[in-house]
Amino acid sequence: MKYVVRSRGDHESNVISQKIKNYLQEFQLIESKEAPDIVISVGGDGTLLEAFHQYNHRLDEMSFVGVHTGHLGFYADWQPDEVEKLVIHIAKTPFKVVEYPLLEVIIRHYGEKKSERYLALNECSVKSTEGSIVMDIEIRGELFETFRGDGLCISTPSGSTAYNKALGGAILHPSLASIQLAEMASINNRVYRTVGSPLVLPQHHTCLLRPIKEADFQVTIDHLTLLQQDVKSIQCRVAEEKVRFARFRPFPFWKRVKESFVTG
Ligand code: NAD
Repeated sequence: MKYVVRSRGDHESNVISQKIKNYLQEFQLIESKEAPDIVISVGGDGTLLEAFHQYNHRLDEMSFVGVHTGHLGFYADWQPDEVEKLVIHIAKTPFKVVEYPLLEVIIRHYGEKKSERYLALNECSVKSTEGSIVMDIEIRGELFETFRGDGLCISTPSGSTAYNKALGGAILHPSLASIQLAEMASINNRVYRTVGSPLVLPQHHTCLLRPIKEADFQVTIDHLTLLQQDVKSIQCRVAEEKVRFARFRPFPFWKRVKESFVTG
């Protein structure tokens, strides 16, 4: 079993990361930054998002687990005082793996520039660099509506508790292979009209965003912000790939939702 420990970089996360590495070395486990079987992220959900993007080229060969040094995270659900227990689990037991769906985003451009493909663990958001965005939204090849407003957010089920939730989107169980499209402040008048509710699309239902007029867009993929020019379309659907999380104990999703948003 090869491992890598990724710290957020603050003092507490670095201390915990070193502690985990020392324990794992005692168990004769091998550290490998290039080809780990397990990635242990120490920090918060943002640290795990960064780790996901660092290793998203070998998702079917590895699993992630997160330790939180701040508040309880959705991806970072182990506490610092539990790391000894966590290391024993990693070293001694064949662990269970749960797989969560991801979002595939393909951005196509006018002109010479080729298309770009991204995978998101949480979401892709599309905003204008200036004013509102105006986009045709196609679902399964059919025009659904023309959107004008601040922006659009397309999230994964596990990302539904992040930005999507702040936009009034529904919380989806991560076992549902789906994506959710949520509006950011749509303009509704005699010219522009949108459905006004978040939409949940199943696997293989592609959502295509087509800008009506040439503009620059600010596209974010999780924590990464990209300036996109000459955009012809942004295609979103459930990805073929999945992300794997190592599970050493039950921590039901709805319990995590409750502890994060209701009782927490
Ligand atoms: P960050 O690490 O500070 O994360 C921002 C907050 O989002 C943290 O509290 C984190 O715990 C939480 N978060 C991340 N993923 C989550 C998930 N799947 N479920 C519930 N909470 C989650 O900042 P960052 O590294 O830039 O994180 C990027 C994420 O921030 C984006 O993926 C987006 O979901 C989120 N975000 C949220 C808002 C909002 O709620 N208004 C706005 C922009 C971005």
